[in-house]
Amino acid sequence: MLVLHMIPWLNAFISYYTETVMSTTQFSSELRGQYKAKAYAAASAKSPLAPTTIPRRDPGEHDVQIEILFCGICHSDLHQVRNEWSGIPTVYPCVPGHEIVGRVTKVGSAVTKFKPGDLAAVGCLVDSDGNCHECQAGLEQFCLHMTLTYNSPDVHLGGVTYGGYSDSIVVKEHFVLRVPSNLNLAGAAPLLCAGITTYSPMRHWGVTKGKKVGVVGLGGLGHMAVKFAHAFGAHVVVFTTSPNKKEDALRLGADDVVISRNTDQMSKHEGSFDFILDAVSAEHDINAYIRLLRRDGNITLVGAPDKPHAVSALSLLLKRHSLSGSLIGGIAETQEMLDFCGKHNITADVEVISIQKVNEAYERLSSADVKYRFSIDMASLKSQ
Ligand code: NAP
Ligand code: ZN
Repeated sequence: MLVLHMIPWLNAFISYYTETVMSTTQFSSELRGQYKAKAYAAASAKSPLAPTTIPRRDPGEHDVQIEILFCGICHSDLHQVRNEWSGIPTVYPCVPGHEIVGRVTKVGSAVTKFKPGDLAAVGCLVDSDGNCHECQAGLEQFCLHMTLTYNSPDVHLGGVTYGGYSDSIVVKEHFVLRVPSNLNLAGAAPLLCAGITTYSPMRHWGVTKGKKVGVVGLGGLGHMAVKFAHAFGAHVVVFTTSPNKKEDALRLGADDVVISRNTDQMSKHEGSFDFILDAVSAEHDINAYIRLLRRDGNITLVGAPDKPHAVSALSLLLKRHSLSGSLIGGIAETQEMLDFCGKHNITADVEVISIQKVNEAYERLSSADVKYRFSIDMASLKSQ
């Protein structure tokens, strides 16, 4: 925690969080009209997800109400439900889910982009202040006052926001995305987090034809990274701890696969990568990957284990390597990514499950046993 408090934005987030969330959770307000939605929530870090009802606000003039059809399961849902991030404590009950696709059921009078019946999607963000430097730059994910889809202060109803493991959601129009009509909806849901989180850093670091790109960890994020890097024309190498994923990696678009626990296979690639995206959810040695970068190569971390990484200064400085991080993506770039997926017919490889199987899915996700994203069919919640 001491180290986390040295990071200014995180420090500001934590004090904002403790002041705002902790005060707004004290009351269940009737600030505006609301209705009851069905959902699955965790009551504590050790509780399984279970059926419940939650309040949703009635749509205001700028809001879009969406019937949720599919919601992906991100490893961040698991981290958050189990309270694994010391910097972002979980407020219970917690309704996770930030890979949402559905159909518009109602719109407010000022809404112009959507009408009832349209397909719509929501990712990790549902609000931001709209006027800071970051929002003006279209980088709402870095706004100090952004509202995450779940476990953020809910300024409308008090308490915290509730995510997509639910039958409906109400979101400000600016944060609602259009879904290309040719995409399979169960497979499109994971684009809203796994998709944009891998697309954005690859665009930022210039992944194009002729670049050699590594993807570490073939999970939900990793398999999307492979698809994008391949679509951008790069030479793609997957690093996996799971030998049984080798054939899938090649099918998804990898040119080569390295079993990362095999040091001989690793050393063959020393000094050769332009860019490596690390999408691992657990503690691991990142120096082993920094060594594989060529001069001026970059490794970007998107995986978010709580424990800090140990980084060798020598492995960074000897070839002017850089190490960076990336957080989801802004709204405009998320729409760009969805349109790119529509054009290239890219979706996630999903295992579609009923909401009743969600706890089983969490167990499999925690042991890297999913091909390659769970997508919850929310019709199963209706019949609950
Ligand atoms: P996931 O589907 O569980 O994939 C993680 C992959 O990491 C696994 O499939 C596995 O791949 C590898 N792995 C797991 N444990 C490992 C270990 N002990 N050592 C080495 N490799 C291991 O998770 P995800 O949904 O893709 O999310 C990945 C991480 O990104 C999570 O920490 C999540 O919170 C974070 N995330 C960050 C952002 C962001 O904005 N930066 C957004 C979304 C998610 P192999 O079997 O191939 O080894
Ligand atoms: Zn996510």
